[in-house]
Amino acid sequence: MRVFALCNNKGGVTKTTTTVNLGYGLARAGRRVLIVDTDAQSNSTYSLLGNLDQEHTLFDVLIHGMKMADVILPTKQPGLFVAPSSINLSAADLLMASAPGRERKLTRALSQIKDFDYVLIDTPPNLGVLTVNAFIACTDVIIPIALTTYALIGISILETTMEELRENLDVSLPIFGVVANLDDHTRLSNDVLSAVRHHFGNLVFDTVVPRNIKVEEAHNQIACLFDYAPNSTGAQAYLKLVKEVLDRAEGS
Ligand code: ADP
Ligand code: MG
Repeated sequence: MRVFALCNNKGGVTKTTTTVNLGYGLARAGRRVLIVDTDAQSNSTYSLLGNLDQEHTLFDVLIHGMKMADVILPTKQPGLFVAPSSINLSAADLLMASAPGRERKLTRALSQIKDFDYVLIDTPPNLGVLTVNAFIACTDVIIPIALTTYALIGISILETTMEELRENLDVSLPIFGVVANLDDHTRLSNDVLSAVRHHFGNLVFDTVVPRNIKVEEAHNQIACLFDYAPNSTGAQAYLKLVKEVLDRAEGS
């Protein structure tokens, strides 16, 4: 089971969009995929299920020790499942502050499940206890980056945190790949992309996802981008990205 944590301590950098579309893409390629939503904003939960009325959520797992299998729900896409988030996860930093083994709650929860090929963990826009849980529970990190502002400024904090976790908590935390997104073909986008490639080298996927309104529309309409607008530049890019992920992960 490959567990990817999609992390970037900034908000609005396409963590959720990339998690959801990779999830759909991998499931449509025949893999069994679980999306774990650790962000209290619950954006990926909403975009997959269309509501936030779930009786049990990841909060019950992390705070009350409920079994992961008891909160996992199917989506409309065969092969794609979600462990939903809820707004009460916003108190997780406080509630988990003195819990023993608080950094490994998600690791323990995921160790109970076996029947998925890929787990994709969507994370909040900060480096609090939930993101640390995602880092420790994952086999690899995927870093989504928006080519909109000078993206590398925030990245150094992310890299420092990852380095500290490697040293202090005995995790290897490899970067599986960096996804450049929101390319609008401006001079700024090109400059940021060059800087990202210079910094991360061939960890950066060849596929650069363009800014494309269909991506946002599909997300808002609780639709799968690959059905909603299969010929859009956004869908085509995500399809190529899924192929790159599969090539890297499964070496085909
Ligand atoms: P994060 O999870 O990092 O906060 P989101 O995935 O929610 O970021 O993306 C931020 C916003 O950008 C959302 O409104 C989303 O719909 C939009 N978005 C993401 N990717 C694209 C894209 N390729 N084209 C256009 N809009 C996008
Ligand atoms: Mg998000």
